[in-house]
Amino acid sequence: MKMKKFAVAAIIAMMGMTLMACGGKKSAESKAEGAASVKTVNAGKLIMATNAEFPPYEYHEGNEIKGIDVEICQAVAEKLGLELQIEDVAFDAIIPEVASGKADLAAAGMTVTEDRKQNMDFSDTYATSIQLILVQENSSIAGKEDLTGKKIGVQLGTTSDLFSTEDFGEDAVVRYSKSMEAVQALSQGKIDAVIVDSQTAKEFVNEVKGIKALDSSYSDEAYAIGVKKGNTELLNAVNAALAELKSEGKLDEIVTKYTKAE
Ligand code: GLN
Repeated sequence: MKMKKFAVAAIIAMMGMTLMACGGKKSAESKAEGAASVKTVNAGKLIMATNAEFPPYEYHEGNEIKGIDVEICQAVAEKLGLELQIEDVAFDAIIPEVASGKADLAAAGMTVTEDRKQNMDFSDTYATSIQLILVQENSSIAGKEDLTGKKIGVQLGTTSDLFSTEDFGEDAVVRYSKSMEAVQALSQGKIDAVIVDSQTAKEFVNEVKGIKALDSSYSDEAYAIGVKKGNTELLNAVNAALAELKSEGKLDEIVTKYTKAE
């Protein structure tokens, strides 16, 4: 009798554990449902401000904008029950778009910096990178230390712009609206070097003849999604969605899809 009672108790305990397991799953689902009520600029939409000049993170292909950030934001939007809408603007207009409440997210391979944190809140980091120095194939520039006194091309408002201005002074830096324009100026010998994030740098080296990337890293970059300062509801929803995408292996899958050719 005593034994039987114990067995029943054990079965009840096991059932309880099974129920708890189901309960866990259920609460994850209802969390996603709850997230659908996140307020955005346009109800039902998730507006992503980007600059589609940064392959493989965002770039034009025909009439479409594709890339790692696009797919990540698409997956985030799906988890939040929203429809993704992309606003392609100049890189230095991305933060103002979000800060002024025209767009919900900044997603542009954007590195978290102290200055940018004054104007936007950042999600958890979803990718890391380094910056590389591009030079002409026959250049005598072998590293960062050789850049003193040289003309350095950057995309306006990027960390390449900020860091190279800090390191080499205002006169050394030539700013372009697109990194590709800087690369073209380099290939024509108008400037001596271009600084750009490594995956984009590698794409440009494959596309443009006569240029190479130096081996050493210029800076470390950690990409995150920006939201309007103080919008913790959206920030938390984005972070929860990113964490889910990470644990599902989806984040890795997206990055690998766009970088496997390397
Ligand atoms: N990671 C760099 C930055 O945050 C470059 C981003 C870009 O060119 N899209 O400024």
